[in-house]
Amino acid sequence: MIVCDGMGDRADRAREFQTPLSVAKKANMDALARDGSIGLIDPVAPGVRPGSDVAHLAILGYDPCKFYTGRGGLEAAGAGLRLYQGDVAFRCNFATVDAKMVVKDRRAGRRIEGRDELAEAVSEMRLSDPSAAFEFVPTVEHRAVMILRGKGLSRKVSDTDPHKEGIPILRSIAEDEERASRRTAEILNEFTEKSFKVLSNHKINAERAERGLLPANIILSRGPGTLPPVELLGRKYCIDAACIAVAPIVRGICRVAGMRLIEVQGATGGLDTDFKAKVSAAVQAMKRHDLVFLHIKAADVASHDGDFEKKTWVIEKIDEAMAQVIESVDLAKDYIVLTSDHATPVAFRDHSEDPVPVLVAGPDFDISGITKFSERTAATGNLGRLLALHLMPIMMNRLGKVEKFGF
Ligand code: ZN
Ligand code: ZN
Repeated sequence: MIVCDGMGDRADRAREFQTPLSVAKKANMDALARDGSIGLIDPVAPGVRPGSDVAHLAILGYDPCKFYTGRGGLEAAGAGLRLYQGDVAFRCNFATVDAKMVVKDRRAGRRIEGRDELAEAVSEMRLSDPSAAFEFVPTVEHRAVMILRGKGLSRKVSDTDPHKEGIPILRSIAEDEERASRRTAEILNEFTEKSFKVLSNHKINAERAERGLLPANIILSRGPGTLPPVELLGRKYCIDAACIAVAPIVRGICRVAGMRLIEVQGATGGLDTDFKAKVSAAVQAMKRHDLVFLHIKAADVASHDGDFEKKTWVIEKIDEAMAQVIESVDLAKDYIVLTSDHATPVAFRDHSEDPVPVLVAGPDFDISGITKFSERTAATGNLGRLLALHLMPIMMNRLGKVEKFGF
């Protein structure tokens, strides 16, 4: 199952109703479309603009309306942290504030020398409530994850990160009437204040000041989340599933789903990723696993940049890499699914509610006979229009992994 993040697009009048997928030279995808079934999928439902987190839950067959429990938990899982039921995880930034708590730089200059030492000082802080504890782990550059642990916590609290510079940090407040939410907000505020005290007085920040650098003097938190209570994919369908992905949020979801993560050299999660190495690793992994999930982020990156040509180039690179799929995968025996988690139209520069093309080829799928794979041709395809949520059960049925409903 190949998911090209943000590959779907929207016909643009200014471009004669073409899209990167419709103009890209992609003989391999087109051949698979012709020899398989094509259609459209709605990531969540018609009219819903999804985040990649929500969209990936759906693609893996988990109803996001039921199982989406915030970004933080998935992000923590993606960073390789162990999360337990009841924990609340936050995405954090080292940031710079002045004495009035006005945010000067949400990233404290991004690359922070001595960051791990600063993180250690944060980890040594103690909360006044002895029944609550936290784990603080730096991830990439100025980013970190914080996990609150203890009884009676809730993810229904607001961010302390104002998401903007030039305004004061925010006090976290409860987003519902529950006591757990009020308590969690209080703990988060205490954590934030203490981080300012500890970091402001840290010798690394004194050194930074001497060198004219911004101090990394506070931890801002956002996106609280808990572990989604999903049934592991392996248990649900009795399969052995693996995943190839770099984006932390996708890695997090795959880990939560119990999939084995396969690392690929040269995979970066960006435009400079090694497309061939990723596809090749996926083809190899098909020999050992019932399901191999391959995530490629690059098309979404080009889309957010609003770069039509770059996005077209990404699709062509993916197609080139897919020559290995055509060569090595026996469609009389194995299945290929190619789709996008959501559309990210280049003209819109963000995720949209548009349905995205999907292609399914394998032993018992009809052939579409359509020789081109695009948003427009997919709308006339033999697979019709489905919800992303239904893709996994359909595939698992074909693999004989689902019991009949009823007698
Ligand atoms: Zn996405
Ligand atoms: Zn995106």
